[in-house]
Amino acid sequence: MENILEKLKKGNERFIKGVSINPNQSLDRCKETSKGQNPFAVVLTCSDSRTPPEIIFDAGIGDLFVIRLAGNVLTNEAIASIEYATAHLGVEQVIILGHTNCGAVKAAVETNMSQQGTNLSEYLKTLVDKIDPNLIIEGKDVDKSVVKSTDNLIATSASELKNILNKLIVNNSINVTGAKYNIETGEVVFLG
Ligand SMILES: [Zn+2]
Repeated sequence: MENILEKLKKGNERFIKGVSINPNQSLDRCKETSKGQNPFAVVLTCSDSRTPPEIIFDAGIGDLFVIRLAGNVLTNEAIASIEYATAHLGVEQVIILGHTNCGAVKAAVETNMSQQGTNLSEYLKTLVDKIDPNLIIEGKDVDKSVVKSTDNLIATSASELKNILNKLIVNNSINVTGAKYNIETGEVVFLG
């Protein structure tokens, strides 16, 4: 598994240094992968337009099995997608990729801090409610709370997912790793 994490780290290093090789992005690659997919990693990340996995890991078509939801929340649908990729496509490395300045985490923090409640729609409330149990609130400091809550959300999601996959998959050799993307520097820091 180490080599897959290394591959992702090296791709991110190329991206940061401005020497991306944009692998597997040709029409030939489309034709090659149309016969079947064999991605090397699963990435659950935020829908935020600033966090595109293939670009920040310098990867291409057929390389990453990506699930994107605001706040990279571990919903049942996200878990089902991850189960498909691991149990049926044989992917052994899952990355839970949060990011700095996440609007979904910030919305959850502000909702939690708000005394008079908020007027979120039922849909947004579902998302915020999913993030809420993972919040770490630091007094009235929104920014600090967002940083700590983002880290905690990544760590708890990784741990929860590992437990779920252990129950779902016999002889589970799947590695679940948390990571955080810095939307300003382009760097992905792998946690724990
Ligand atoms: Zn986000």
